[in-house]
Amino acid sequence: MAPGADVPGALPGPRVGILGGTFDPVHIGHLVAATWARDALALDRVILMVANDPWQKSTRRQVTPAEDRYAVVAAAVEGVPGLEPGRMEIDRGGPSYTVDTVRALTDLEPTSCLHLIVGADVASDLGTWHDVDALASLVRLVIVDRGGVAPSADPPGWQVERLRIPAIDISSSELRDRLAARSTVDYLIPDPAIRCILRLGLYAGSR
Ligand code: ATP
Ligand code: MG
Repeated sequence: MAPGADVPGALPGPRVGILGGTFDPVHIGHLVAATWARDALALDRVILMVANDPWQKSTRRQVTPAEDRYAVVAAAVEGVPGLEPGRMEIDRGGPSYTVDTVRALTDLEPTSCLHLIVGADVASDLGTWHDVDALASLVRLVIVDRGGVAPSADPPGWQVERLRIPAIDISSSELRDRLAARSTVDYLIPDPAIRCILRLGLYAGSR
């Protein structure tokens, strides 16, 4: 049966979105993707799932400690209806494989209909993910536009929904550089998250 397909006679379960990321740091591109997916797909909640060890990145650069990235995400979504920070991958430890997270969520909430939300850049990269066929059988894939990234064909083997969102051409990489240079990130990162970054003393050194 397709992921999240209705079982005859059963009440439909919660509709849950998962936006996984390194969030180093979180920014409005992530938040617009999450809130637009929440509303367009009538999701009960969207979890911003903070990667513990983003194994495809951590061999290439120094990633901010997971607890700090999580604290900034938690500050960013505090009070935002339907958005929540996710720490399952941090609590599990080790390299973060989305398939493990989705399996754990499915065990916890077997009736939930899981929607994996990804930007267009990630959508064309899914073939490199761990145990990707199993993952594709467990979720619906929501591909959101990403400013500066040309849309590509639907990845094969997935149940895909496309979501148009305003093009926001920013990245965490660019924001890390701006923070290190002490340039403004106002309006690109929510105020409570900026305050958390300053309180924790993150991104102040040169990178
Ligand atoms: P980095 O530059 O460090 O890779 P990033 O901005 O790409 O950071 P990630 O944590 O890698 O942020 O992204 C998490 C998810 O959010 C991915 O699915 C990514 O495609 C999506 N995303 C990130 N930035 C945007 C944006 N500006 N618009 C839409 N989606 C985005
Ligand atoms: Mg990225």
